[in-house]
Amino acid sequence: MTALWQVDSVQFLQNVKQVTQNQSVMAVVKNNAYNYGLDFAVHTFQQAGIHTFSTTSLVEAIRIREIAPNATIFLMNATDAFEQLRTYDIHMTLPSLVFYHEHKAALAGVKVHLEFENLLHRSGFKTKDELLAVLEDHKHNTAPKMEITGLWTHFGYADEFDVDMYEQEREAWLDIVETLVHQKGYHFDLIHAQNSASYYREGQRVFDHHTHARIGIALYGSRPYSSLSTDCITQALTVKANVIQVREVQQGDHCGYSFAYTVDQPNTRLAVVDVGYGDGILRTRAQHDVSINGKRFPIRALMMSHMFVEVDDTVSAKDSVILYNSDLRIDDYTFKGVGANSEQLSALNLNSLIKEYV
Ligand SMILES: *Cc1c(COP(=O)(O)O)cnc(C)c1O
Repeated sequence: MTALWQVDSVQFLQNVKQVTQNQSVMAVVKNNAYNYGLDFAVHTFQQAGIHTFSTTSLVEAIRIREIAPNATIFLMNATDAFEQLRTYDIHMTLPSLVFYHEHKAALAGVKVHLEFENLLHRSGFKTKDELLAVLEDHKHNTAPKMEITGLWTHFGYADEFDVDMYEQEREAWLDIVETLVHQKGYHFDLIHAQNSASYYREGQRVFDHHTHARIGIALYGSRPYSSLSTDCITQALTVKANVIQVREVQQGDHCGYSFAYTVDQPNTRLAVVDVGYGDGILRTRAQHDVSINGKRFPIRALMMSHMFVEVDDTVSAKDSVILYNSDLRIDDYTFKGVGANSEQLSALNLNSLIKEYV
């Protein structure tokens, strides 16, 4: 037996439909679709009526083109592989004024989305004036040139409720859209800004005058913030391992490497379980319980391919040990401080866990 990473495909699709409702969604499939598998995710999203995808990697963008010949594909990181962008019809971010001037001629025929930097400060144009400068320069450029097909930004604070940073970045962005589109009359085929948190904060709705919400984590079954009901978003992923054997240990025994766990009760039963940090179970996750036969038990030590779980006499060898499922949710552990949703998901090691879609 080996520990298992298992996705319920029906539940996954159900969740995608529940998240998108009849709103227009660009699915973020970066990092192998948050580790759910790029091919699986793109296929399933298409079944749910999503035909617009974005990622940070050109290799993934090209793979999406192979899976989805008619999709709209947006690359969120800039690259100078313009020939490939043209060949595979991949839209790309235009990340700065410097990039524009440096590559103005070489960008001919490439579809770009102007990016507004905003409070995240990761990429994009600094100001409205910079955006207007490019639009003006582009309008008067008579040489072969890029195609401006989109306008976008990314919010860094949509899951923050204690400060008003989201309100600030939201206002700054909506003002950009208002000026460029409504006052100056520029047209963009795609306008997108909202991640999962922003989408739900706006009442599970795409902003007015935007073509898409650009959603990742909610499509993968995790809530972006804790005040959202668990009924809104369902996790289709289960990670489970097995009890290899149950050993009796005594008060004062040291178990695991370097005194990892010192037994404090007589006749303690320790289950040896076949999963560890080498499979991507975070050390922070090991501070919380697992579920065996519907009952919760504490993890006592985490090793590379094993863990110790303190159990009672209801547990025996070969029992299943649940690390994550629709009850032991990734997002609940996120809110307990284990790590970001995407951090827990992408840590899971699909080279050592058995991967299964059911
Ligand atoms: C990851 C990412 C998203 C999706 O964010 P979620 O919180 O997972 O919905 C959207 N836009 C950009 C630029 C991203 O990097």
